Amino acid sequence: MDDFPVTLSRAVFMDRDGTINEEVGYLSRLDQMKLFPRSAEAIRLLNREGIKVVVVTNQSGVARGYFGEDFVSEAHAFLQESLRREKAFIDAFYYCPHHPTEGAFPYRQACSCRKPEAGMLLRASRDLHIDLSRSYMVGDVMKDVRAGKKAGTKGILVKTGYGAGEKTDEDPVPDYVAVDLLDAVNWILEDLAR
Ligand SMILES: [Mg+2]
Ligand SMILES: [Zn+2]
Repeated sequence: MDDFPVTLSRAVFMDRDGTINEEVGYLSRLDQMKLFPRSAEAIRLLNREGIKVVVVTNQSGVARGYFGEDFVSEAHAFLQESLRREKAFIDAFYYCPHHPTEGAFPYRQACSCRKPEAGMLLRASRDLHIDLSRSYMVGDVMKDVRAGKKAGTKGILVKTGYGAGEKTDEDPVPDYVAVDLLDAVNWILEDLAR
């Protein structure tokens, strides 16, 4: 069965804070987790198309000692539950708890998962059989776009969160600049139909 053909999936990788929910600067309490108004609709559209939705989030608040990994898991369960009520679903969550210069071992390290590195996307592609060349990365900072490009996806910057202040004219330029996650998803669905 080793050579049984595996069908590779498409995915939309997405950043969390500033992309799906409001950027509050090191979200450390569940009451700070506020979805943007059109996020559930955006994710629901992807679910309906059979496109995997994978959150990839830098959480250096762990390395900095602001909260623990248990809180990151709690926040993801809370986010998933908020989406479930709107019939939307995230297929998988990946986070990087590290920082190259803050905190103490094992969180203080120059890892390969912290965006703009592509580690989280590469791991997800192995775990979930994702074809990166047919996938997309969406986020509110250029680090997100860069991580996607490094992994071989297309990259979309959203203007929510820190997005409005990001420079988009430097290499690698985003494939699209969207007003928010729903605009990004609509562009992706059009891109797939091209
Ligand atoms: Mg962000
Ligand atoms: Zn990391």
